Amino acid sequence: MSENILIELKGLTKRYGYGDTESFALKDFDLTIKRGEFIMIMGPSGCGKTTLLNIIGLLDRATKGEYVLNGEDVAGISARRQAKLRAKKIGFVFQNFNLIEDLPIIENVALPLVYAGYSKTIRLKNASTALKRFHLEEREYYFPYQLSGGQQQRVAIARAIVSDPEIILADEPTGNLDSRASHIVMEELKAIHEEGNTIIMVTHNPSLTSYATRVINMLDGQIDTDIKTVADANLPQPISVKIKKKKQQQEGFISIDTDEDKKTKKRKKSRRRQ
Ligand code: ADP
Ligand code: MG
Repeated sequence: MSENILIELKGLTKRYGYGDTESFALKDFDLTIKRGEFIMIMGPSGCGKTTLLNIIGLLDRATKGEYVLNGEDVAGISARRQAKLRAKKIGFVFQNFNLIEDLPIIENVALPLVYAGYSKTIRLKNASTALKRFHLEEREYYFPYQLSGGQQQRVAIARAIVSDPEIILADEPTGNLDSRASHIVMEELKAIHEEGNTIIMVTHNPSLTSYATRVINMLDGQIDTDIKTVADANLPQPISVKIKKKKQQQEGFISIDTDEDKKTKKRKKSRRRQ
């Protein structure tokens, strides 16, 4: 079912340097990702995991190759269009949380909505709802340094999902956490996945792979092994995302649809009528 394909990477290559200093972070990398997958990427340091995530997240560009996101070739689009897509479709979680130290956590969580063009009232309201989900509502006006590592990472996850993105990218999100905090963070990511979101996560910790539906081991910029632990037919259905969306709208979430989304919705509607 090609309709279910979210990301297609073909012959993706990322080269650094020229001549004697030439090296490849990714080499002829092919990968197809379906909606609802929870992919864990493992592999030794320097094998290209972060490069891959940054290219998928439109934070970086490949030197060569195809990147098709939702049926659209995004490898060659303008930086402006990339930024727009990124704001709308992609949520990031990093190892070091990457919170802005002199902003209260509610404003940290609201930041992606600034880039997505929402009004301040809606930004704060949605950020507050997202924080509630992670049981941090009483800490809205705390600053990041006043929270534990696990709490900071939950704030970062709230920030990643606040704009209701389709893809969550997480680069070693539990790398700086003890096992208890890691577990809590993983349970949150699991719940987000079960709502029908697609998650791509880099980890060094093999014990976390039980959360994944697919485990990819990388080596020298290429895929070494690729194992699906859940059949495609059993992946969470995006239908539950729709329920979540409806609920969020009732709670004050208002989504901005691109023309492409409107077209897709229209198509789906007419298909349902048939
Ligand atoms: P991983 O996340 O798996 O540890 P990275 O994607 O960060 O690996 O890096 C892959 C390879 O690309 C490494 O050999 C790294 O040294 C190289 N690399 C990454 N960024 C740069 C850069 N800006 N300039 C030169 N080489 C880089
Ligand atoms: Mg890395």
